[in-house]
Order: sequence, then C-alpha cells, then structure tokens
Amino acid sequence: MIEKEKINAIKRTVDIKSLIESKGIRLKKNGKGYFGRCPFHDDKTPSLSVNTKDNLWQCFGCDKGGDVIRFVELFDQVDFKQAVQILDTGTPDLKTVQTHTDKPDPLPEPKVQQLLERVVMIYEKNFDDIGKKYLYDRGITDAGLFERHRVGYCTGKLKEILPSKGDILKDLKKTGILNQNNGERFSGCLAFPVFD
Ligand SMILES: [Zn+2]
Repeated sequence: MIEKEKINAIKRTVDIKSLIESKGIRLKKNGKGYFGRCPFHDDKTPSLSVNTKDNLWQCFGCDKGGDVIRFVELFDQVDFKQAVQILDTGTPDLKTVQTHTDKPDPLPEPKVQQLLERVVMIYEKNFDDIGKKYLYDRGITDAGLFERHRVGYCTGKLKEILPSKGDILKDLKKTGILNQNNGERFSGCLAFPVFD
C-alpha cells in the first residue's frame, strides 16, 4: 500500500514541465500553457499540452493525459506503484539529499585492490561446481584458461564467508561488490576479473 499523502505530495511537488522535459521532450510556451510533441503517438504537430498551473498534461492527438504519475506510467511503461516509486526517489530535491548523505569516502587504491583480490579468490574457489558446469555445457572446457583468467562464480554468500566485524562489509559496498542492501551485485553470475 502506498500512502495517500505520499501520492499527493508527488502530484504536488514533482513539476510536470520539468518531468516531461527530463524525458527529452521540448516544450514551448503558447498562451497560458506549454506545448510539445506527444511521445505516445506519432505526433507531427505539438499536440501535447502541459498545464503548469494544475500540474497536468493532455494530448489532443491521442487523448492521453493525466498527472505526473500517469506520465511516468506511460512513458516508462511501469505500473502505478512503480511510477510512484520512480518519482519518489527520482525527484531532484530528494536526489540531492541522497547523494549528499550516501556519498562514501573513497577507499585508497591499495585497499581496493586488496579487497577485490580477496573477493576474486573466494569467487575462484566457488567456481568448481555451478560455474564450471555452465561453461562445460557451453563447450568451454580449457582448465588452463579458467586458471589464467581466474574465472570465478559468485554464490551470493560472501557475507557469510567474510568476517562481519570491522569495516569490510562497508568497504565492499564502496567498491560496488555489495549493494546498499548488502546483496552481492554478481550473485549467480560467473565472474571474470579484469586486471590492468
Ligand atoms: Zn498523443
């Protein structure tokens, strides 16, 4: 369930004109409102009308129209709930706050290398069962090649293998190996480390 207040806040605070322009549609002022080429039908003339006063849009060509949420639903081809989510996390104001608080201090280069080396080793160890079978099934069976390229497999269990104390999980997030929810980015994937 999405709270009504959140929906109302989005309809009120997300600017329809900026939203439409952010999708690459150019709007021109015309009388009281703005007009642009509608992205939902083959629009030769600007039939998309944007009403900044009521924060609504309407196409006179294909008759589609609505509020900011409806626009995202149609443009991004998502459902109502997802559209709310996109607008909730994607509004410029919120984004500024987020990048401000989430921006981690970068790790020093040697530390990143050391961390990634550890991850590569764990992935290599996990390669044998699922990962190797997958490549064998695809006709890739050269053991020397696996070794040279240090091919690995990510079981998604890094968290259970690494010590939970210290900063290691936090540091792994900074490298992008773990996402913000402590999930592993490459979970269920073969891993081909890239060396410089
Ligand atoms: Zn249209």
